[in-house]
Amino acid sequence: MVEDGSARSSPQTLRQQSSPGSRDVADAGRGAGRPRVYTTQEWGARGPERRPTVHRRPPRYIVVHHTFTKNYDDPSVDHGFWLARAIQRAHFGRGWPDTGQHFTISRGGHVMEGRTGSLAAALAGHMVVGTQVRGANDYTVGIECEGTYNTVLPPRPLLASLVEMCAWLCTRYDLDPRTAIVPHMRFNDTDCCGYRFAPTLPKLRAQVARAMDARSTR
Ligand SMILES: [Zn+2]
Repeated sequence: MVEDGSARSSPQTLRQQSSPGSRDVADAGRGAGRPRVYTTQEWGARGPERRPTVHRRPPRYIVVHHTFTKNYDDPSVDHGFWLARAIQRAHFGRGWPDTGQHFTISRGGHVMEGRTGSLAAALAGHMVVGTQVRGANDYTVGIECEGTYNTVLPPRPLLASLVEMCAWLCTRYDLDPRTAIVPHMRFNDTDCCGYRFAPTLPKLRAQVARAMDARSTR
C-alpha cells in the first residue's frame, strides 16, 4: 500500500531517458536475468500528469508492499493489466501525478511497470522518484504485491516473480539483498506488506541472494 510522501529535498527534474514503454525499453536487458516486465504502454496506462523526477543514482532500498486489495484467483495477464489500470486510476484520484509505486506484481506472477519511466531508469542504474513511502521516496524503489497478506502468504507465482525482480534490481543497483529488501512497515506506521508476509522477508532475502549467486557463477 503506497503512501503520500512529498519529497523534503528538491530533487532535480531531468529529462526522461527514453520514451516510456517503448519497445526498446521492453526489449532492453534481455538475457541479463531480467524478468518480463510489462511496460506502462503495454498495460494501457494513461500518461502521467507530470514528467517523472529521475535521480541519476541507484536507490538504497527495495520496499515490498501489498496492495491491500482482494486476493483474486485470476492468474491471467489481463487481470494484471486491469489491476495496474485500477491502481493508476486510484492514485490519480489521490491527486498524485501517476501510479505511486515503481513495479506491480499480480497474484499470477505478472510484473508490470508502475510509475512511468521506472523500467528505463532501472536499466540505466537510475531511479524515478515514486509516491510510495512517506519520507523516503528519494532513496527507495517500491514493488506492490497484489493482495492482502495479514493472515495468508502470497501465492507461489507472485513470490517467484518477486524473487526474480528483486534479484534483477539488486544486481542492477549493486544492492545487498540481505539489507536492501525491506517491508513498507520499516518506514511508516502501516500493516504493509502484511503481518503474515513481512516476517518472512528474511527468507525472501536469502532466496534473492541465492538467485544472484547462481547467476554470477553461471
Ligand atoms: Zn505499502
